Amino acid sequence: MWIVIIGAGVAGCVMARRLALLDGVEVTCLERVTRDDHSEAGTGLNVGPNAVKALRAVDPELTDAITRASFSWRNWRISLTDGTVLFDLPLSDVAEGPGWRIRWSELYRVLREAAGSRVAYGCEIMALGRDATDPRKTSVAWRQNGKEFRLDGIDLLIACDGRYSSVRRAISGDVPVRQVGVAISRVLVPDTSNGLIDDYEQWFNGPNRLLAFRVPPDHIYIACAFPIVPEADIPSELKTPEALRAAYTPPHGPPGAQAKWLIDTVCANVAETHWARMQEHDVLYGATDCNVLYLGDSAHGMVPTLGQGATQAIEDAANAAALIARCYKDGERDAASWLTGIEALRRERMRFVMEFSLAATDTMLAGSDPVKGTKHKTEAPFRQKLSRLYGDIGPLLERT
Ligand SMILES: Cc1cc2nc3c(=O)[nH]c(=O)nc-3n(C[C@H](O)[C@H](O)[C@H](O)COP(=O)(O)OP(=O)(O)OC[C@H]3O[C@@H](n4cnc5c(N)ncnc54)[C@H](O)[C@@H]3O)c2cc1C
Repeated sequence: MWIVIIGAGVAGCVMARRLALLDGVEVTCLERVTRDDHSEAGTGLNVGPNAVKALRAVDPELTDAITRASFSWRNWRISLTDGTVLFDLPLSDVAEGPGWRIRWSELYRVLREAAGSRVAYGCEIMALGRDATDPRKTSVAWRQNGKEFRLDGIDLLIACDGRYSSVRRAISGDVPVRQVGVAISRVLVPDTSNGLIDDYEQWFNGPNRLLAFRVPPDHIYIACAFPIVPEADIPSELKTPEALRAAYTPPHGPPGAQAKWLIDTVCANVAETHWARMQEHDVLYGATDCNVLYLGDSAHGMVPTLGQGATQAIEDAANAAALIARCYKDGERDAASWLTGIEALRRERMRFVMEFSLAATDTMLAGSDPVKGTKHKTEAPFRQKLSRLYGDIGPLLERT
């Protein structure tokens, strides 16, 4: 049986490693970048406790390797930029264990090392589509090191090629995107804060939000966010040091010590800062007429507010790998029935995660009041939803 995975990012590496353990299954993972290119160097990730729990259920060894490359995410604090604390939550109140704080490049390095020889790097996909003889199967042609390769009769094609998935576009059509009207930046800097910044924190000045946390070895990840007109580009005049200083400086008095360090650091690193707009796209786990599975960002696009992008890519892969392994060992070799099972396991969960992430963005929208919006986050209904977010990884993994 042939399984081909496109993309050795978060979901792709977890899948390649688990599926290669199945006797009689040939797994190939085709990755576009070269072996040592773990390039998302400008980003730190906070990965939720739900991903740690889900991955531990299927791959404790890989979970431990990521833990060794991370700092624990144990606390979430929200303040105003003048230093007034609005929300201070130990994650142990809402989760069974901590999450991870890690550099994106480090997460990729650990995952790709763990996926080992199943990943072929530097692959350019030349053609991809339904197989000529069996329309439920697929064919892929690619070029690597100047040579051309082709595989026909693929029993299961798994798209793990991220938010601009060319597999999803080729098989299931264009993916409409919804802009929410928030600009977001990212920059990774050496830690010169003298202990001011450590675990995950956010600071508001009106709807303008700073976010920062420390990642190994000794860096701080900073993300700025502010409202923009939905569907419009981010105005270049809002990305200047002067505009950013004005956006985060409180109106009545100086910033607190943490916000002051962050504002100075953000303004000094404008040239290295990457900008994006918060957006969403609809959930789709499988093609209807052929055996193509979508996982991670290719299956769903959510706003990054609750740090659930990579987190859900891991949760997706852990669930999909567990379901495929169980079916395969029980003699159920029909990939179409696996797709139905994965869809049933994941669709409602993903709707909940996307809706919750969008609802939690309320304090970043134009005209919002962060004090009122954050007060609501200290109340029982929000905490209950957080417990569900961080704990409810699905019945299959709970039994594993
Ligand atoms: C600025 C920023 C901050 C973020 N912060 C967080 C956070 O704090 N917490 C969190 O959980 N998530 C966060 N995310 C989201 C998270 O990074 C993604 O959701 C996650 O990486 C998705 O995993 P994936 O496996 O679906 O795809 P990816 O990890 O994006 O991997 C896709 C892989 O496919 C490869 N690929 C793409 N096209 C092809 C092709 N045609 N052929 C072969 N290979 C291909 C790519 O090179 C890549 O290796 C953030 C994202 C951004 C942009």
